[in-house]
Amino acid sequence: MFTMNTKIITLNEKELKEEQFTEAAAILQAGGLVAFPTETVYGLGGDGLREDAARKIYAAKGRPSDNPLIIHIADTKRLAVLTKEVPEAAKKLAEAFWPGPLTMIFEKATVVPKGTTGGLDTVAIRMPEHAIARKLIQVSGVDIAAPSANASGRPSPTLAKHVIEDLDGKIDMIIDGGAVGIGLESTIVDMTGEIPTILRPGFITKEMLQAVVGEVKIDPAILEKPSADLKPKAPGMKYKHYAPKADLHIYEGDLQKVVSKIKELTKKNLEAGKRVGIIATEETRHLYLEGNIKVIGSRAAEETIAHSMFAVLREFDEEEMDIIYSESFTSDKLGAAIMNRMLKASGYQIENLGD
Ligand code: AMP
Ligand code: MG
Repeated sequence: MFTMNTKIITLNEKELKEEQFTEAAAILQAGGLVAFPTETVYGLGGDGLREDAARKIYAAKGRPSDNPLIIHIADTKRLAVLTKEVPEAAKKLAEAFWPGPLTMIFEKATVVPKGTTGGLDTVAIRMPEHAIARKLIQVSGVDIAAPSANASGRPSPTLAKHVIEDLDGKIDMIIDGGAVGIGLESTIVDMTGEIPTILRPGFITKEMLQAVVGEVKIDPAILEKPSADLKPKAPGMKYKHYAPKADLHIYEGDLQKVVSKIKELTKKNLEAGKRVGIIATEETRHLYLEGNIKVIGSRAAEETIAHSMFAVLREFDEEEMDIIYSESFTSDKLGAAIMNRMLKASGYQIENLGD
């Protein structure tokens, strides 16, 4: 069903000219799809005000159509058009964090079709900072609905190569703008209730939000395994996400115990003829002796872990591991966002080995 010729263009975010966006803008204006880099991950963009464009996005990703899309804008003036009401707290957060990796949920205006919002009466909106994303929105004049540009269920794309792997032949164009900066999807905050509530943790932490608007809640379903009575408010958070093809197990607790456990299990599985991957950190890399060991980043700088996480999971897919063992990371600040993705990737297979 997908036999499109996907055009791939390369742009340098530091040297952008308007005419470099003419073709991509025309595709979006005609209801087509363009994947592009943002500071979080690569997005798969289509016109957020057109049901037919939204349908194409869901089809290309193989995404369930009850999982709503985030609309990307380049000017806060669009908020008045796309939403029913902009609460004061949202204005403050926009002022503090836009453009940037923050998505806010509002009551939607009627111009936003339910095909974009997964049938909901609310709409998710973000103003990205990446120069290519901003230019694409400005030149096209389109409010760009863009989920992450991966096939549904696969790790989010942090390089154009990941987008090509998943979507080549299924969309009109891919803009290669090099590696993204953050590597984790945006923080999502629901602004429709009394108190702003985090529906998906990200680079903008609870502490950062609280410093601007006072009390902020966290949807209890995001650090635990979702269940019948613990349903996440962001529909997308209930799906098994980011899943590597291998069986992923995470160990937490005293780091020495974690390393010993992973070494012991690695040895056993290698002897049984299995292909074993290990997710280590700069600090622990030298402690492992066998297995396919990858450094995900440094414990001393969690942003390096966020930046490499999805790429490491994809590399293990390419190298066809049977089983992957991972250390765990802290669960506060950026670590909360990292562990949220790692837990989902593992299908919540985590064991605490004690302190
Ligand atoms: P992605 O675009 O892949 O980063 O996924 C978008 C995320 O935003 C998903 O987890 C969605 O469920 C969530 N989302 C988008 N719109 C809404 C909304 N109106 N209410 C709650 N969550 C939303
Ligand atoms: Mg996604």
